[in-house]
Amino acid sequence: MDLLKKINNKWIKKFSYPLIISGPCSAENEKQVIKISKELNKSYVEVFRCGIWKPRTKPGLFEGSGEKGLKWMIKAKKETGLLLATEIANKEHIKLALKYKIDILWIGARSTCNPFTIQEISDNLKNCNNIILIKNPLNLDINLWIGAIERLVKNNIKNIGIIHRGFSILNNSKYRNQPCWLEVLKFKNKYPNIPIICDPSHISGNNKYIYEISKKAINFGYDGLMIETHNNPEKALSDSLQQITPKKLTEILNNILLKKKIIKKHLIKLEIYRNNINEIDENIINLLKNRFISSKEIGKIKKKYKIDYLQKKIMKKLKDNYKKLCKKLNLDEFLIQRIFEEIHKKSIEIQMK
Ligand code: PEP
Ligand code: MN
Repeated sequence: MDLLKKINNKWIKKFSYPLIISGPCSAENEKQVIKISKELNKSYVEVFRCGIWKPRTKPGLFEGSGEKGLKWMIKAKKETGLLLATEIANKEHIKLALKYKIDILWIGARSTCNPFTIQEISDNLKNCNNIILIKNPLNLDINLWIGAIERLVKNNIKNIGIIHRGFSILNNSKYRNQPCWLEVLKFKNKYPNIPIICDPSHISGNNKYIYEISKKAINFGYDGLMIETHNNPEKALSDSLQQITPKKLTEILNNILLKKKIIKKHLIKLEIYRNNINEIDENIINLLKNRFISSKEIGKIKKKYKIDYLQKKIMKKLKDNYKKLCKKLNLDEFLIQRIFEEIHKKSIEIQMK
């Protein structure tokens, strides 16, 4: 039996559509938490999110306010009635989040990558009735995501949803994390029973793109959005570039939800594949950029050690390799040869420079 098919979406039906979760990346101080929650309470938001323990890339940065932040969140709930959500990553976080009766717990992208972490989280949440949201892993590995969800289902955790926050791939694209819509939508189609929330903030990495990502997610049939908001985004202690004010959030949601047009199914499908092609083209360009960086380095070594720029033997080996790969993937061999002829020409040019 496919464990994921057992998940039911009853919990999300209790919210309006779409479910809007919003709040600061990090709870920074009591005043900030209360202020943002009150602002958000005036609009579409039903769940107030705050990061309490922040997984930062480097030590020495603001790593969250810890237990006292949970107290501020409780106060915000008392004043606004909003439900609360925070990220948990270990046993201690779970103990505290449950002690303070946080309604929704989410598992961050860095945790989903690690089966040991997920198992520890799952064991400590055994039989838990809270809503648990699982973000996609950092890397584009849908099976790793599925595995994490299975670990929760196995421990009788029933109220499960997933969050699409984009993937960290070799990236010079305009987004901080690539959405890889096609892969996620295939997953969504296979398991329409699992509620799915989009996190445009961590996909975009920049407040400029929150609108376009949110709009796409709604058109693609997502159940909700999780968007980071801050009263003073520029001064935020974490993820300052991608946060927006509660007022801006309302503007964006008004635009998307009030002006929502019914879009025909085939046009949505077209949009999904067009997006996929865009992402692939960006990847090709990124890869070429890296390839030419290597060419430059090779050129330096060849110059220093007086090695011929044109290496016929190596060329032949590369070409044989492409040929084999084309056969395996059933690709037009001559097309690939033509593309690589141009790439090689440029490579030699860069080496000789
Ligand atoms: C967050 O939601 O603030 C966060 C740390 O997200 P992610 O796990 O997606 O990086
Ligand atoms: Mn964040």
